[in-house]
Amino acid sequence: MALSETTKDRIKGCIYGQAIGDALGLGTEFMTRAEVKKYYPDGLKHYDQIIQDAHRSRWKQGSWTDDTDMMICIAKARHDNHFNLNEIACNFKEWFNGNPLGIGRHTFNVLCMRDYTKDPIKAAEIVWHMYQCRSAANGGLMRTSIVATSPIAEEDEIADICRLTHPDMRCVGSCVLIVKLMQSLIFADYQLGKAHLMEIANRYDDRIAEYLEMSFNDDPAVLSLDDDTMGYTLKTMAIALWSLWHCDSFNGGLLAVVNLGGDADTNAAVSCALLGAKYGFSSIPQYYVENLQNRQILEDIYKQTIADLENCPHKGKYYKRAT
Ligand SMILES: [Mg+2]
Repeated sequence: MALSETTKDRIKGCIYGQAIGDALGLGTEFMTRAEVKKYYPDGLKHYDQIIQDAHRSRWKQGSWTDDTDMMICIAKARHDNHFNLNEIACNFKEWFNGNPLGIGRHTFNVLCMRDYTKDPIKAAEIVWHMYQCRSAANGGLMRTSIVATSPIAEEDEIADICRLTHPDMRCVGSCVLIVKLMQSLIFADYQLGKAHLMEIANRYDDRIAEYLEMSFNDDPAVLSLDDDTMGYTLKTMAIALWSLWHCDSFNGGLLAVVNLGGDADTNAAVSCALLGAKYGFSSIPQYYVENLQNRQILEDIYKQTIADLENCPHKGKYYKRAT
């Protein structure tokens, strides 16, 4: 598959955007908007401003967290532009066994299961049922951006990768909607419109539409990102969409989302992967790239992604623009 420089720039923007949003978002994670103002009176802009409290001092400034760790687990299972589910599950388990930092409650409960890698989707459903099918956390959505760097990852594949830990249809639907939006930006230079996104949303869960609708509101306060349901997958989906509709640059979206607090690392990881897919790596201020810890890992993933795309055996099956 021949890739244009613009497409490569958008793929790189998506990969780095995820990690940069995650790394800067850690600085306000779990804070209310009032706390963000208290700790960062002029706003959080740079990694070295991140306060060193008990939560944040576990990471070096400029480090990404579990969101991007898990994205990398998916990236490593890529072959011929598909992602092998068993390999992803094994990568998740291996990562989990290393006692990672920042892991979400639901993901922790699922990856704890002794037989997780034998039937990960079943294990995730068992845990979801144990908690009365109420959990719809953003743990599937936070890591999904890499799937959008394949033009041939269809809805079932996106959905199954989410279901490796998060079976709730709000989680699955939010992953499909965001990946389809990113794929179209990267490979077709086309931003899916509201009607198309609404059609995707309604195929998965009728609770998604309300959050899609709220993303068009100018004031992100309608999403109550900093209350005690801050880890809800539809809140993260909605703020990422909000940043796409309301921010006209990568930098503008990054700073806006990070300074809202709540589950800010995840919210900014998804928002900035989306903004990176739209505006490209070349639009990201160099500071955020140069001061990111372990960025060689991202560079390797980017190179492997491009090599996989260029060797794509599905030469006749190019990305079809949605209409
Ligand atoms: Mg995190």
